[in-house]
Amino acid sequence: MKLETPIEYLKGVGPDKAKLLNKHLEIFTFGDLLEHYPFRYVDKTQVTQVVNIFPDSTNIQVRGVLSEITTAPMKRGQRMNAILTDETGSVELVWFQGVAYLKKYLQEGREYLIYGKPDFYKNRPTFKHPEMDLVDPNKQLTFADRISPVYPSSEKLKPRYLDSKGLSKLVNTLASKVSEQNFPEFLPKEILEDYALVRRFQAIKNVHQPESESWLEHARNRIKFNEFFYIQMNMHRLKLNQQEADGFLLEKLGDYFNSFYNDYLPFELTNAQKRVLKEIRRDTLTGRQMNRLLQGDVGSGKTVVALMTMLIALDNGFQACLMAPTEILAQQHFTGLQELLEPTGITIEILTGSIKGKRRKGILERTKSGETQILIGTHALIEPTVEFLNLGMVVIDEQHRFGVAQRAKLWQKNNRPPHVLVMTATPIPRTLAMTVYGDLDVSVIDELPPGRKPIRTVHRFDKDRITVFQFIREEIGKGRQIYIVYPLIEESETLDYKDLMDGFEAVEREFSPPEYRISIVHGKMKPVDKEMEMQRFVKGETQIMVATTVIEVGVNVPNASVMIIESAERFGLSQLHQLRGRVGRGAEQSYCILMTGHKLSSTGRKRLKTMVQSNDGFHIAEVDLKLRGPGDIEGTRQSGILDLKMANVTEDQTILQNARSAAAQILSKDPNLMSPENQALKLHLQQRRNKQEIDWSRVS
Ligand code: ADP
Ligand code: MG
Repeated sequence: MKLETPIEYLKGVGPDKAKLLNKHLEIFTFGDLLEHYPFRYVDKTQVTQVVNIFPDSTNIQVRGVLSEITTAPMKRGQRMNAILTDETGSVELVWFQGVAYLKKYLQEGREYLIYGKPDFYKNRPTFKHPEMDLVDPNKQLTFADRISPVYPSSEKLKPRYLDSKGLSKLVNTLASKVSEQNFPEFLPKEILEDYALVRRFQAIKNVHQPESESWLEHARNRIKFNEFFYIQMNMHRLKLNQQEADGFLLEKLGDYFNSFYNDYLPFELTNAQKRVLKEIRRDTLTGRQMNRLLQGDVGSGKTVVALMTMLIALDNGFQACLMAPTEILAQQHFTGLQELLEPTGITIEILTGSIKGKRRKGILERTKSGETQILIGTHALIEPTVEFLNLGMVVIDEQHRFGVAQRAKLWQKNNRPPHVLVMTATPIPRTLAMTVYGDLDVSVIDELPPGRKPIRTVHRFDKDRITVFQFIREEIGKGRQIYIVYPLIEESETLDYKDLMDGFEAVEREFSPPEYRISIVHGKMKPVDKEMEMQRFVKGETQIMVATTVIEVGVNVPNASVMIIESAERFGLSQLHQLRGRVGRGAEQSYCILMTGHKLSSTGRKRLKTMVQSNDGFHIAEVDLKLRGPGDIEGTRQSGILDLKMANVTEDQTILQNARSAAAQILSKDPNLMSPENQALKLHLQQRRNKQEIDWSRVS
């Protein structure tokens, strides 16, 4: 068996099913299938008697004798019904698909173990498309027979016999052939012993076909260990590269920094801002490249830290750039910074995708000649046509929108890498930060500028809309401004767009000119129009801003005091917190109103409750991590670092610690993996990296 063999050549697959496996489960090869792990296991000895089946039963197993198989034609294909009976009663089984095949396979009078979730029809439990296992009374049940793995599948795959059971069958033919040759051990003997790890091939085999309870646990343990271990090794490598990379020495704090700080800064810096600036200052004095992550809750004042960081570079004769995730944000940074820098004589420009032709050419020329000292922009800054004379400092706002690869591209703009400061308002829980951003040093602004009042958050139902509208009126009467935000989720963009427009019309009916004026901003508008509408709101010409989540990050209108989030149950926690952070930026009491319908899932309710109870971004991020699991944390998936299939950052802390210390143990003795016992490891990591590069190309 060769792991690279395309999955289509596995018996029982073929070209059609292979396509489905590619598309829905990213299974391309034998190896991929073997690494498609069960997410839980069902104990087949746990059988529910028919009398004990209730309408709220989840997936259960029933053991009984099959009878009364009947078929009936339908519009397309046919339907099949059957009865399964145990000592206490009987249940109905129904199939709408694959009937021809089932008819051959199922036998009346034989005993079956079925698995599925019952529905109730006419007081009788009914199973739609249950999994069917023939019971062999003569067979001695081994642990493997008793425990059956449940594999992740998708609705699209189920009718093609690629449900958990179908996948299980396919995996089993491979799993029984797995040997040390397929999954050669890469960890040195010492590590295997110190951390009581089973060998790789044993782990793969046992996760699919566990020999015993204890083997299963060891197998899962080893696979999780590997997942964390790869990440740790990568982090170390990145860190080593950086430590080797010379960075510009920014020795001076000169006129730009000092005169701005003493004469033009409109407020006193908070202690947290001062501390972060000191940390940055220290980094730029080492002669090594700075790679720092700046975390600060929304409104904590990251922008001015970014500006002063750029001034350090300017004082030492370098250029600096600031990259934002959207045009609106780039524009807003530009306008704000231009105003602050006016009296200093610093040349600051903006470059975004919508700036074209002559204007663009001019900006590019001035950037290349060094005339432009600070360049603000979007992704457009990464393009190869953008050349600097001497770029010394790169600031990236809202890191989670940019992948690691994009960061790396910016580094390549010089023969020496510029210093990099990435800023994020999405607080990353410590556990995750350690895993994901281990290559960055972390600074935290844990203090808000003085005079801010905590935002009051409430949850209201659609039926309370009249009182909510009344409240809006009162706030506008006090001279405040209001945001009303609608969710926009890509898959159902048209639907959401309609929600937005309906909502907009309702708001328009309530708040009509000349007394009230409304701005609307959404993703389908042209950047110039968006910009114009935003500006109207920023300048206070409109009092209400109806928007989709395009305003999620960074927009700063201190006079806005109410954030209304429609269909709040459809937003994730961190997104809700981000949106809420758009208000509470001035000295006035601000409010966040979470609007929902009556039907809420339990996690939906938990999210809303968390928002109402807490204003603390870190606490919210921790809850978010627990509710969603780390794979979903914004940005981590795209950035491609967090490749965890089985391991869980919150639940598997001990294994994570073990993997960390194992990596450290290996690298402290042999940082470049030169010794004979580490050759297998070196080769394995190399192959993994190559494979990941191939995976990238599959995606694009
Ligand atoms: P964020 O961290 O979310 O990017 P901003 O940098 O946009 O926050 O700052 C939010 C607001 O707080 C801005 O209006 C900014 O001028 C103001 N601000 C920042 N630092 C201070 C400070 N030390 N004292 C008072 N206001 C501040
Ligand atoms: Mg910001």
